[in-house]
Amino acid sequence: ANGAHVPVLIIGTGYGGSVAALRLAQAGVDVNMIEMGMAWDTPGSDGKIFCTTTAPDQRSYWLRTKTKAPLNYFLGFPIDRNISRYTGILDAEEFSGITVYQGRGVGGGSLVNGGMAVTPKRENFGTVLPSVNPDEMYTTYYPRANAGLGVGTIDPAWFDTTDCYQFARVGRKHAQRSGFPFVFVPDVYDWNYMKQEAAGTATKSALAGEILYGNNYGKKSLQKTYIAQAKATGRVTISPLHRVTRVAPAAGGGYTVVIEQLNTTGDVTATKTVTSDRVFFAAGSVGTSKLLVKLKATGALPNLNGEIGKGWGDNGNVMCGRANHLWDPTGSLQSTIPCAGIDNWAAGGAFAEVAPLPTGIETFASFYLSITKNPNRAQFSWNAATSTVDLNWQTAWKQPSIDMAKTIFDKINSKEGTIYRTDLFGVYKIWGDHLTYHPLGGAVLNKATDNYGRLTAYPGLYVIDGSLIPGNTSVNPFVTITALAERNIEKIITTDL
Ligand code: FAD
Repeated sequence: ANGAHVPVLIIGTGYGGSVAALRLAQAGVDVNMIEMGMAWDTPGSDGKIFCTTTAPDQRSYWLRTKTKAPLNYFLGFPIDRNISRYTGILDAEEFSGITVYQGRGVGGGSLVNGGMAVTPKRENFGTVLPSVNPDEMYTTYYPRANAGLGVGTIDPAWFDTTDCYQFARVGRKHAQRSGFPFVFVPDVYDWNYMKQEAAGTATKSALAGEILYGNNYGKKSLQKTYIAQAKATGRVTISPLHRVTRVAPAAGGGYTVVIEQLNTTGDVTATKTVTSDRVFFAAGSVGTSKLLVKLKATGALPNLNGEIGKGWGDNGNVMCGRANHLWDPTGSLQSTIPCAGIDNWAAGGAFAEVAPLPTGIETFASFYLSITKNPNRAQFSWNAATSTVDLNWQTAWKQPSIDMAKTIFDKINSKEGTIYRTDLFGVYKIWGDHLTYHPLGGAVLNKATDNYGRLTAYPGLYVIDGSLIPGNTSVNPFVTITALAERNIEKIITTDL
């Protein structure tokens, strides 16, 4: 409530925020979480909380009047459609050279993501988080994160026979025929639930095109794991449709936090001020970076150091499709949950997920999201003229990602006698190089913060989300974000509280 004084306020309810909330509450601390998106706990008029990718309605996008699907063309025709402006679940946030997709709501990115829960190979960890001791991560914090998230792997025997992964079996065949290692990728989807969907004994979810705009049944989003546990302590309060706009030192100690309440069309209906002894920035790489850059530049937190806003990367994301021969159909039924990848990281700098294209019809397309070792890093900066935060990423900076992805797909195409699809991202456009799902960095660990996420110029302020990670995790990022948050909050609880 307006004027309240609280011990801990957490900005954002994604992975970092949820880990912090649970562990602080278990340590006996009362926690208030502030989330700009909706609660996503109430069904709409169709009886479902979330809409499907094939029939997006107002619930799909954050304050847009037209959908902005990552794969925005099909057979060369644009597929985006008009929707009413609403505080929907997926934000396609546009910067000058890149569109950054992010989840909005209680659970953050866990509401919209594919659930692929990948621990980086230990030999790559030195480049992922160079200042963190790998021993403690691989013996304690990665296992803790995997357990907390409910990570599991598909039953390989079921994979070999089920219709809904024919697309991935085609992906495996083509990878192996070109000599690439094919690996199963763990996920937080309930694999037994998916078997029941396929058998017709449970309401379909992954098998009904649910993913990008939320998943109604089988996916273990943070709402079902960390946040459920945090709420069960009785010490955690969550305020959805509330957006933090300012954090500054309070006269009597602690921090004054200004919060705007939003309605479902995005208008500000009230502005509240609370005081908190400690504030955790967990608004995601983009959300935390934007806040900190603005607060430094506008004089609310002028002593934040010069690393704020730097070291941002896109995890090397780039997408492409391949056109298969008629004897290699990928199936009209495709699970929305990816379960496998092609690992060419060491030799070619690319790890490609074999992704579904759940259109409901046979497309003869193989579709891939590659994570690549793209070295480019961008910076957020305050634009005083527009009062916004800009990001200086340029579209041309994706070229290294394209080159690395080609180390896999040029070879497969030549072996199979196939070509790239040119109809998925525009007219005659092969590469989906305009976007990322994996924003990382902007408040890098041991640079913008100390080695545990403390903003040392301001005791009691912490960063605990993907903005700590310097731009690339070599695989999908949320397990690493979760494990790092587990490591940092343990240290903060034992030494700062
Ligand atoms: P987030 O999860 O982004 O949470 C930040 C929260 O803060 C959000 O809920 C946001 O609304 C809120 N917020 C922001 N600003 C404010 C503010 N000023 N006030 C109040 N609240 C605010 N990763 C994987 O590992 N595997 C995958 O399969 C995968 N698939 C993905 C698919 C898609 C379509 C997308 C978009 C992402 C995917 N990711 C995947 C990435 C993953 O979801 C993110 O890396 C992860 O969610 C980041 O966690 P976080 O804690 O840093 O922040």
